[in-house]
Amino acid sequence: MEKGMMRAMVLEQPGEPLVERLLPIPEPRPDQVLVKVHACGVCRTDLHVVDCELPRPKLPLIPGHEIVGTVVRTGSQVITFRPGDRVGIPWLGYTCGHCPYCASERENLCDHPLFTGYTLDGGYAEYTVADHRYCFRISPDYGDAEGAPLLCAGLIGYRSYRMIAREDRRLGIYGFGAAAHIITQVAHHEGREVFAFTKPGDREGQSFALRLGAVWAGSSTERPPSELDAAIIFAPVGYLLVEALKSTAKGGKVICAGIHMSDIPAFPYCLLWGERSIRSVANLTRRDGEEFLALAPRVPVRTEVEVFPLEEANKALNLLRSGNIQGAAVLTTD
Ligand SMILES: [Zn+2]
Ligand SMILES: [Zn+2]
Repeated sequence: MEKGMMRAMVLEQPGEPLVERLLPIPEPRPDQVLVKVHACGVCRTDLHVVDCELPRPKLPLIPGHEIVGTVVRTGSQVITFRPGDRVGIPWLGYTCGHCPYCASERENLCDHPLFTGYTLDGGYAEYTVADHRYCFRISPDYGDAEGAPLLCAGLIGYRSYRMIAREDRRLGIYGFGAAAHIITQVAHHEGREVFAFTKPGDREGQSFALRLGAVWAGSSTERPPSELDAAIIFAPVGYLLVEALKSTAKGGKVICAGIHMSDIPAFPYCLLWGERSIRSVANLTRRDGEEFLALAPRVPVRTEVEVFPLEEANKALNLLRSGNIQGAAVLTTD
């Protein structure tokens, strides 16, 4: 290949498949690291970006925000990483540091954020650059492909999971994809009972959930054998919120973990009555990342990945869209 160039899968027209391009390897700014990408997870958010369900992506755009790679060069201000270090690059790519949210330890809600693989170029490429202050170290317990899903499915899954209280023993999980398969292991490890809800008839998904420690698995429209103390919704499907409320005990919480969801149908107030609550979870803070990446090898969380070469990014996205990925899809470049 031409020196100084890299292969990348690029979103040029929203709504159209990614195209393979040869692009110049980016130059790191003083606060950035240049990273050779080894693996990049394929997240549902990437689908929302390519399907135009999220406003104003950078264009043209290299998607991907679950990146594991090796630092090859550092900008002049970077002291935390050196060439040769393995890093993880997550969704949160930059925060302003001075808006009311940043000033109150809620940088996940920053007014002027930048996101990897959405408003910044991401990891569907052989190289990428990232602000060193938002990169993480990944435990050597994980290979590159196995570590990639920790960076969004894991981190945002974990932030959603943290919204439930210690005494919430019975946890429902709606949508059994990459995040659910990670969080089920954490919840099981902490002694909670996990009730897994999949698409009706998805026997494979249900047995996958049981294998990972769920005590019950069924269809999303079924009632579980006992009421839930809390539910997390990972699927981007609005009516699941109503289904979850129907299965939740008084005082129960329903957490919406996705960045996008179809409209939520009207429902009678009695489903919310009894001090049930609904909330969404947005993005992550660097603290969530540090906490989760320290916890994952202690559980230990084992990720199940389906690996595709970089140039098959469209195939991986299509399989994810049709619900045909068990665990997490990951692109590799080596
Ligand atoms: Zn801010
Ligand atoms: Zn993601």
